[in-house]
Amino acid sequence: VVEILPVPSYQGMLPTFFVVLFHDRTAERRVERMRSDFVANASHELRTPLASLSGFIETLQGPARDDPAARDQFLAIMREQATRMSRLIDDLLSLSRIEMRRHVPPMARADLVSVISKVRSQLKPLADDLGLSLDFTPGEDTVQVVGDEDELIQVFANLIENACKYGADGARVEIFLNRTTERGEAVIDASVRDFGAGIPAEHVPRLTERFYRVDVGNSRSKRGTGLGLSIVRNILLRHRSRLIVDSVVGRGSTFTARFPAPSENDTQDQRMLETS
Ligand code: ADP
Repeated sequence: VVEILPVPSYQGMLPTFFVVLFHDRTAERRVERMRSDFVANASHELRTPLASLSGFIETLQGPARDDPAARDQFLAIMREQATRMSRLIDDLLSLSRIEMRRHVPPMARADLVSVISKVRSQLKPLADDLGLSLDFTPGEDTVQVVGDEDELIQVFANLIENACKYGADGARVEIFLNRTTERGEAVIDASVRDFGAGIPAEHVPRLTERFYRVDVGNSRSKRGTGLGLSIVRNILLRHRSRLIVDSVVGRGSTFTARFPAPSENDTQDQRMLETS
């Protein structure tokens, strides 16, 4: 967009001239397009189970009215669709809450050992159903990061649930914590590793896009909303952390959340919080 502003002459002594201002609206337009794509995608994702529910209701009121076997089967599908819709709405609300807080860094400290142990017990029934063991041997009693415990629980619930869903052929999921350095800075890695099908390299950069799914034909993928990794990415951004994906087709995937190790200042801030 080009704006041309006339600059009046000063008491008729100077000739009139113009200032030309250039505004680059490309970024603004991209954000606008992303927002409208998001609304379109969200509506589509909600409309699909809703259309299927309406279809079943019609059938139950009509042709299947006196067929108890068909009725039970349809009700089971309808229940699944309703669960899917409520999962989608939960994920959409989570995402919008996290995005609103995205620029407000967390103040408290969270213990990754406790976060992961809680998620592990939460997901044990799913892992048992799939015949998977969830292996976690932390090595340290506590591993502290600056963070919001509830949000970190959401991060690891998504990563471990994905490892179970997509890595189910591998018999186990490993979760491990590691202290290391990146460009001279101390960092803490929390990794979730599965031994499933892995992800073809061309998909990896797009995994955290909203609604992006690698293979929607896959029955395990159908259960997902395509929002899990987008939620993970947004929470990690707020924690000055990032997601590293390492995947080999046929061997499995490792998803690592890399956190900055808390500095002395973070520790002092925390002490003040605890005593105030
Ligand atoms: P979904 O709700 O579909 O699981 P996510 O955002 O959590 O959505 O993940 C996006 C996609 O990334 C998934 O649909 C799946 O195709 C792929 N994916 C995620 N985690 C794994 C994994 N551990 N192994 C293989 N593919 C994965």
